[in-house]
Amino acid sequence: MQSVLSQKMNLAPKAGALRAGAKKARATRATRTTAMLSMSSGPATTEGFGSACFKGAVADKYLSKYGESSTLLANGKWTKDMAKADIVAKAVLDWAVENGASVYCHWFQPMGSSGVRHGNSGQVHQSMFNFAEDGTPYYSFTGEQLLQGETDGSSFPNGGMRATHTAGGYLSIDPYSPIFLREDTVFIPAAFVSYNGDALDEKTPLHRATDALDKQTKRMLKAMKYDVGSASVYANIGLEQEIFLTPRHAFYRRPDLQFTGRTITGKFPARGQEMSDHYMAPISRATGAFECMRQIQQECFKMGIPLKTRHREVAPNQYEFAPMFGNAISQVDQNLMIMQVIEEVASEHGLAALLQEKPFAGVNGSGKHNNWSIGTSDGLNLMNPKQVNAKTGNPEIFPLVMAAMVSAVDKHGDLMRAAIASPGNDFRLGAMEAPPAVMSTYLGPSLTEFLNTVKNGSLGEYAPKKKPLEFGSDTLPSIEVPAEDRNRTSPFPYGGNRFEFRAAGSSQNVSLVNTVLNTIAAEAFKIVADRLEAGEKPLAIAQDLLKTHDKCIFNGNGYDPAWPDEAVKRGIWRIDAGCDAINELDSAKNVTLFEGMGIFTAREIQARKSVLLGHYVGSVEMEALTMIDMINQHVIPSVKKADLGNPSKLVDAVKTIKGAVAQIHGTEDEHKAATLARTLRLTTMVAIREIIDEFESRCPPEDWTLATYSELLFFDTYPESEYGC
Ligand code: ADP
Ligand code: MG
Repeated sequence: MQSVLSQKMNLAPKAGALRAGAKKARATRATRTTAMLSMSSGPATTEGFGSACFKGAVADKYLSKYGESSTLLANGKWTKDMAKADIVAKAVLDWAVENGASVYCHWFQPMGSSGVRHGNSGQVHQSMFNFAEDGTPYYSFTGEQLLQGETDGSSFPNGGMRATHTAGGYLSIDPYSPIFLREDTVFIPAAFVSYNGDALDEKTPLHRATDALDKQTKRMLKAMKYDVGSASVYANIGLEQEIFLTPRHAFYRRPDLQFTGRTITGKFPARGQEMSDHYMAPISRATGAFECMRQIQQECFKMGIPLKTRHREVAPNQYEFAPMFGNAISQVDQNLMIMQVIEEVASEHGLAALLQEKPFAGVNGSGKHNNWSIGTSDGLNLMNPKQVNAKTGNPEIFPLVMAAMVSAVDKHGDLMRAAIASPGNDFRLGAMEAPPAVMSTYLGPSLTEFLNTVKNGSLGEYAPKKKPLEFGSDTLPSIEVPAEDRNRTSPFPYGGNRFEFRAAGSSQNVSLVNTVLNTIAAEAFKIVADRLEAGEKPLAIAQDLLKTHDKCIFNGNGYDPAWPDEAVKRGIWRIDAGCDAINELDSAKNVTLFEGMGIFTAREIQARKSVLLGHYVGSVEMEALTMIDMINQHVIPSVKKADLGNPSKLVDAVKTIKGAVAQIHGTEDEHKAATLARTLRLTTMVAIREIIDEFESRCPPEDWTLATYSELLFFDTYPESEYGC
């Protein structure tokens, strides 16, 4: 039957406004050498902001034709009414065709979809047309097609939850993340579960954890005489995305960067980040970086991604983007798309974007600071004391929220550590700027002092202090600043209106990070709500929580070498190895937590653990095999050509790596295999690297076939150098 949505088909839709950007990008690439000297593309402006995102005024324009408006999309109710879903599908089709798109996909996040490159996403592209009996194509897109999809996907890692003979996987639209359009394709954010409803993705648990947070926060607030009414409660996040940009021609001469995202060898250059001359330095137009960053912002703006901030970071060739914060569910999706755009646009400017956590030894690694707060849909931020006091009129709420948060971090630091245990982060945590693998929280002196008075029995109102700051010159106006300083050494500092989970890795899909934060907060609020409903006084609960759990508050220097041992003495979670943290995921405590809060079944959590351990082992194996190839195909031939001496140490090194890989393959137990893999990369391969780097230090540039750190890290210093310096 021909769909009511069918339209006269135009097989060659005109390139719409949205395609102009892509064309321009290709032009930019073609003229890259000249683009280095001129401003080739327009500035990142508000013009066209959100034009490729189906919400607000854009959705209004197309829904109004069918008697609806964008308010239909404001909550998920329309997805339960097929007539409404048909209308949305019609409007999406009109919008798509008008903007040069003829394809749609359900866009999902397969389990374990983090890695050295942008957080992987799953997508099967379907044309938005059908064929009549005589073969004539016509446009067609129905509500049913919009709402759900079915896919095989048995090849995704699933931790034993599916086999090829039980491979069914189902996709359901995520109404909390807007539909967007890129190139010729409409992206429909979706959740992915098995035939039995097991979560096979990163998004489904985040939704479950958001539901739990909504429910328990409302219960707690209600017991404190504040009713949020019809508003919903969810986490707001803002993700600061750090990356490296490196010349693409040099990237092509680094098999390790291409396959594993990080340099496995490389002599450190004469210059690093010791002059602090890269941090917030000019994003020079002398290279492709400035154009690249602008185009990244512009493409994101079109999709309605508010990528506000850009600057250079501490390490040479390191950069950062940050969006305006928002609902965690859609921000995670937007971050996945930001990472993809970064990779794609970089390639059009003669650059390669590196998203891995530690691409280079000896300089800072990259993180994705996960700024996190809990808010209501009508604008109350529970982490903002002034606002909470003003809006609720109950000064006891904020201290109780903070006491609950402290208890959550203290109890479940192991889960926070597990959520950031991506393979790349094992190199980063505790090194250079990254906080140590100890899960403490910084609250700042004045909030800590206030919570101490609560602990000692007085529940007053917390009013964050401000202090005047003088610049010492009559011509420069003095300003007011928060009385609290910043602490960049804490993995989870409080910053006046949010927590900042600084330890998340740059390449991570941070769904699991926020699933964990939402879950542990929801559990803490549930405990408070239970006790309040049972008639306990807020002060008694706050006192009790702080007495038991305030040991995880640490305002000192987290980089102090004495701190990790001191933390252990205090009884704070410290797990140095990522694979040991992953191994804690299914401990009795954590299964009780996840099952109790309705986030994961025991089976789902075991599957996740298995996938994450497998991911770790797989990443190390790729690194090890790449190192073998680099030694055999590059280093030994260079050593021979330049006559640098007997390469027998290198030959032995290859044997050592092969032996270690074989040992890992022969190990059944996944955690043991991951532990062996960790020793291989952090001890054995680091020692072998020293041998290689020593040869490199004596090799004439023309005989060294791998790109050097100088070439990879200093393109704005020596942009066209053939061999580095
Ligand atoms: P920093 O100075 O820490 O580098 P940035 O401006 O780079 O700060 O990034 C801060 C991030 O925190 C932004 O994404 C911002 O939108 C986000 N943010 C600000 N307030 C909140 C909040 N209340 N909840 C969640 N995220 C927030
Ligand atoms: Mg920042």
